[in-house]
This record gives sequence, C-alpha cells and structure tokens, in this order.
Amino acid sequence: MSIIYHPQQYAIPDRAMENFIDSDEIWSFIKQNENPTIEQVERVIQRSLDKNRLTLEETAILVNARAPEMVDRIKAAARELKERVYGKRIVLFAPLYIGNLCINDCTYCGFRTSNKNQERMTLTNEDLIDQVVALEDHGHKRLILVYGEHPKYNAEFIADTVKTVYGVKNKNGEIRRVNINAAPLDIEGFKTVKEAGIGTYQIFQETYHRETYEKVHKSGTKKHYDWRIAGLDRAQEAGIDDVGIGALLGLYDWRFEVLSLLRHVNHFEAVYNVGPHTISFPRIKSASGFEVDKKYDVSDEDFTRLVAILRLAVPYTGLILTAREPGYIRDEIMEFGVSQIDGGTNIEMKGYTSHKEQQDLDLEQFEIGDNRSLNEIMDDLVGKGYIPSFCTACYRLNRTGEHFMEFSVPGFIKRFCQPNAMLTLAEYLEDYAPAATKEKGYQLIQDNLASYEDEQFKDKLVDRLDRIKKGERDLYF
Ligand code: SAM
Ligand code: SF4
Repeated sequence: MSIIYHPQQYAIPDRAMENFIDSDEIWSFIKQNENPTIEQVERVIQRSLDKNRLTLEETAILVNARAPEMVDRIKAAARELKERVYGKRIVLFAPLYIGNLCINDCTYCGFRTSNKNQERMTLTNEDLIDQVVALEDHGHKRLILVYGEHPKYNAEFIADTVKTVYGVKNKNGEIRRVNINAAPLDIEGFKTVKEAGIGTYQIFQETYHRETYEKVHKSGTKKHYDWRIAGLDRAQEAGIDDVGIGALLGLYDWRFEVLSLLRHVNHFEAVYNVGPHTISFPRIKSASGFEVDKKYDVSDEDFTRLVAILRLAVPYTGLILTAREPGYIRDEIMEFGVSQIDGGTNIEMKGYTSHKEQQDLDLEQFEIGDNRSLNEIMDDLVGKGYIPSFCTACYRLNRTGEHFMEFSVPGFIKRFCQPNAMLTLAEYLEDYAPAATKEKGYQLIQDNLASYEDEQFKDKLVDRLDRIKKGERDLYF
C-alpha cells in the first residue's frame, strides 16, 4: 500500500512538551489576518482540497473569514472534502460515566468539588456490568468510559473497569472497543491503562489560553496547565499513540482555540510523527449550579463554521461530535465530515438502566441536546443515506492510525471501512432494529453494494453479509 500523503513537519522542531502553545504567536496570526480577501480564502481552501494540512497562518485566514459568501465557500469546501475522501460512513459510540467523585473545581462542570448538590457515586462492579449489558442490548459496540478526577480513579482502577467492560459478553454481543476520557496520568499509569487494551485516550485541554485556564480551574490537580497539556505526551511516552485532544468552546475566543488545537496537532506530528486520532470541540452547556457566561458564547453560526474550518485545517484527523448538540446542529455538521457521533446517550450515573424521561442535572455533568435513542438515530442516519458503523477492525487488527489510513491509503475506505460499516450495520439490523429500520438499512446496503465494480471483492462482501443473516457475527476485512 502506498501512502500518498506526507504530513508536513512543523517548522519548529519542538521536543518541549509543555510550552508549545505560544499565545502571543497565536494572537499575532489572528491579528495579522483580520480581513482576508475572497482570493486568499479560496487559495487556502484549495490547499486543503489538495489534501494538505493547513498552516496556522492559513487557518487564521479562515477563522477571520466572516463575510457570508466566504462562510458559504468554507462550508461547501468542507462538504466536498468529506464527499471526496470519507464518503457516507459515520461511527457510533456511547459514553459511560463510571464515577463522579472529583477533587477539582472546574467552574463549568457539575462534578466540581464545590458543587454540594451533586449526588456522588462510583459504579460498583455489578453496576458497571448492568450498564454495559444495557448498552449491548441496544446494539453498542464502542464505548468511551468517563471518570471524574479522584485518587480512587487511579490507573489500576481505570484498567480494571476497562477489563470488566471487555468481559461482559451477553446474548446480544459484546463491547469491542473501549476508549477513555479521564484525568491525565503519569507515564507508569498510562502503561497500566494501555495494558488493559484501551482504544483512544482522550484528554481535553478545555482552553489553551493559560490565564483563562487558571481562572476557570480554581483548585485541584487540574489547575496545573502544564501537567494537563503534557498529559498526552506522557501517554505517547508510555506507548499510547492513539490519543484524542479537545477544547471546551465557550471559555475563551474560539478562534484562539481552533488555532491552538491545530498547534497541538503540529506538536504531535513534529515530535511523534503521528497526529492525534481525534479532535473534540464540545460547546459548553449549563450544568448543575452553572450558567454559561455569554462573553465567549459560540453561536450556532460560528460553531458550524468552526467545525467546517477544522475539517479543512486537518483533513486527516477524526472529528467527534457529541450529543451535547441538538439534532439540527448535528445534521448540518455531519455534512462536514464528522467521523464519530454518540447515540442513545445518557450521561446520568447509572443512566442506561434508570429509564427516566427527564434529565436530572444533580446526577450528571451537564445538559445534553440530543436525547434520541440509538435506534432513532440509526433510523434517521440510514434514512439520510449515511452508513452508521460500529466497526472496530483497525484497532483489533492493530492497524493503528485508522483515520489517517482512511485518508492516505488509496482505496482503503472502499476496501475496508465501507464494507466493515455495512457488515456492522447488518449485525445491528439483524439483532436490534425494528422492521422499518431493517428494511431501510438493507436497502441502503444494496445501494452501496452497487458501487462495487470489483466483482470478486463484491462476492466476498455479499458472502459475509449472508453469513451475518444466518447468525455469524463479528466478520470484518
Ligand atoms: N475528569 C476528566 C477531565 O476533566 O478531563 C474527564 C472527564 S470530564 C467529565 C470530560 C469533559 O467534559 C471535560 O474534559 C470537559 O471538556 C467536558 N465538560 C465539563 N463540563 C462541561 C459542560 N458544562 N458542558 C460541556 N462539556 C463539559
Ligand atoms: Fe472533575 Fe473533569 Fe468535571 Fe473538572 S471537568 S470537575 S476534573 S469531572
């Protein structure tokens, strides 16, 4: 297989783990490109469509492109890139909250230590198994486990919960990939968690702007900006090369955060030769005892634009969109090449077995915007022509850098991702879908099969689909 894309090395050979975000430098890029012309915007877009990662300066041009015709061009280009490169797959996962004890005082989070209204709990082993069984019963195959920061949630604890999740096999399948969103560990800790077989380790910097960071993180370990920003470098040192970065939008100027995320990507590429697997861009939501400050509010218009800009800036990095956002925003943003969304999300502790109609902010971290069940989301996606995927093949075959391969290896998507998406969709249709979704889903599979000209390959795929109909599971390329 030949790689057609070569990541550019960032100009500064930066081995320094902590100080790669230079806020003056980032602001100077933004200020120097305040009023771009349409020609400049077009030039940058073209560089991205030619599959280059954009520079900080180029991205600064896009974040300053406010005129409606420029925004339209940016969004259209993101759609085009998505169509050209990624096709119609979208990977589904669910978050599972393991414990909400927390020693930190992050002003925006319902779990902050000073929030005395929060009901604190940690799932027992039995609770954890119950939640996983409920998730499996809905059809989930990929989870992200979420933890507060607390001495109880040390590396051994995290590793044990991961192993427990992998061990829960029930008649309705199993979880095949467990990702983590937890506090940064030391190198030894990351090694312990890696041995448990995690997929991605996600840590969001929240805001890359140091002064704001120090203001909103009032106490606890998380107050230390450098410890946090170097967290994923320690993960790399420990051998975890599948990492996710993110910024919590609404704490500081989003243009600064977008450029900083890009700078963080540059840092990984320069030092480890591999960028992060995913970028997350949660917008801040109300939480128990916390109302969003309007000062850095990211409007829907800015939010959709910034996701399109991220898609263009890092064309080969996975983008994750969560149920914090309402359905109508998710619909628009998925067109820009988001690679993963969560479905049937419940972020309340023990939420997957509680069957409550209403969210209870004293039991969860923040408010969510998309409360649809997994099947409602599956049905909606299939109806819109997306192929929902629960594929975990790359991870299990040790094909690391899955998103990068999709982007850079010619034919990879057609030969691996798309067929695997169809196979996992067929499993879902057989095991969990109501009749109407099943009919639509198989129609979609048929339509996609028609796009395969290689008859030999098509026969192999049809054979696997038939085997799934007859009861075999977990088939992939
Ligand atoms: N405790 C760990 C940490 O802080 O990194 C991991 C779990 S924390 C529960 C996961 C993420 O939730 C945080 O990184 C933050 O970005 C996000 N979050 C916290 N409060 C939020 C809010 N009010 N709205 C949206 N996202 C929020
Ligand atoms: Fe704790 Fe994480 Fe919430 Fe901060 S964001 S209070 S560290 S759970």
